[in-house]
Amino acid sequence: MLDDRQKQVSVAGANERTIDCNKASLAGSVSQRACVFCGSRVVLYPICDALHLIHGPIGCAAYTWDIRGSLSSGPELHRLSFSTDLQERDVIFGGENKLYASAIELIDKHQPKAAFIYTTCIVGVIGDDVERICRQLEKEKGIPVIPVQAPGFQGSKKDGYKVACESIFKLVGTKNKPYTPAKSINILGDFNLAGELWILLDYYKRMGVHINATITGDGRVDDICNAHNAALNVVQCSGSMNYLAKMMKDEYGIPSMRVSYFGIEDMSDALYDVARFFKDEDMMEKARQLVKEEFTRLMPELAWYKERLTGKKAAIYVGGAFKAISLVKALRLIGVQSVIVGSQTGTTEDYELIKQLCDEGTIIVDDSNPVELSHFVKEKQADIFIGGVKERPIAHKIGLGFCDHNHERKEPLAGYEGMMNFAKEIYATAMSPVWKFTK
Ligand code: SF4
Repeated sequence: MLDDRQKQVSVAGANERTIDCNKASLAGSVSQRACVFCGSRVVLYPICDALHLIHGPIGCAAYTWDIRGSLSSGPELHRLSFSTDLQERDVIFGGENKLYASAIELIDKHQPKAAFIYTTCIVGVIGDDVERICRQLEKEKGIPVIPVQAPGFQGSKKDGYKVACESIFKLVGTKNKPYTPAKSINILGDFNLAGELWILLDYYKRMGVHINATITGDGRVDDICNAHNAALNVVQCSGSMNYLAKMMKDEYGIPSMRVSYFGIEDMSDALYDVARFFKDEDMMEKARQLVKEEFTRLMPELAWYKERLTGKKAAIYVGGAFKAISLVKALRLIGVQSVIVGSQTGTTEDYELIKQLCDEGTIIVDDSNPVELSHFVKEKQADIFIGGVKERPIAHKIGLGFCDHNHERKEPLAGYEGMMNFAKEIYATAMSPVWKFTK
């Protein structure tokens, strides 16, 4: 480990050190974090009736729908990835004309409800006036055209989340639907991977809660424009959406609450907390009934997995620390001990909570890298690695089972159904006979 990173690691029970987090990655440490543009892109592009045009070289456009398969119940324009494909000539003479021509062609062809124009590293260097072009396009085409100022080198993925929130906020409050019910919420920070959002919508509807806007999973421009009329913002993936919730509180007085939909305990809390907010006894009773039904159905099945998985050890490294906290609890429910818990963007409070939650000896790490993670995993003899697309090769190179709990997952892992899928996946991976043949 590099000396300057020592303060970003702690061991539960062994030291009282507060993790030094929430800062830029150390140069040379090869952080697992992605760039600003990637952060803005993964948050915005599930808005499925908008056009997403990347102003930059074609390589940046590699962050496509395939990397985060956010599902839509309607339009699927978000699945197409558009780029201005800047070349040497554009870098020398400027890419403004190319951007203008591309945007006009795409808006005419696809008739989107809004357009997001992303700037990338090279545009940050050559200084194309993207804001001016967006204003011009907006005037000519009569739809919101929003510049997403996200040159990758400006910071990390977390800074990209903030840029995305600022872009979304430009839409909020620009339209009023004829009627928004009083007990309505906006769901922030669920990206509808593998249809997870639809599971949550069903729970809330069964409780009598109206969903005003989903930001951004299965998102629609008109719903976002009307988002200021909701009574409450329910925020998952707080790393990416807290900033938007804060802006909406300051501007429109909408309160927010932080939830997680992973694991039985946190999922149930998310439902109870909303019912508690509305001070509605009938809603609370429906939530209790729903939790009881799901709990009674799930527990016997989970007990089967717990019996077989007890004694297994897991390493967790994910984007947001709030998810890591839910994963520790969900794994404990099926008998799996978390021996490494880390995140790219956790805060001091998150890590303190993790420290209290975890067993003695658990390694807690902020903004780690492949060398550290490989070392920790071997040292702690983990049986399974839970992470995202960039952690997968680390696990596979070591010869370790891997569970994707990030953008690429194809099975829903949120909600009660998700808990069952999670248990199945951990079991199938950790117990696979294939590991007998690896070193
Ligand atoms: S770091 Fe720059 S060049 Fe690389 S993907 Fe991000 S914006 Fe594009």
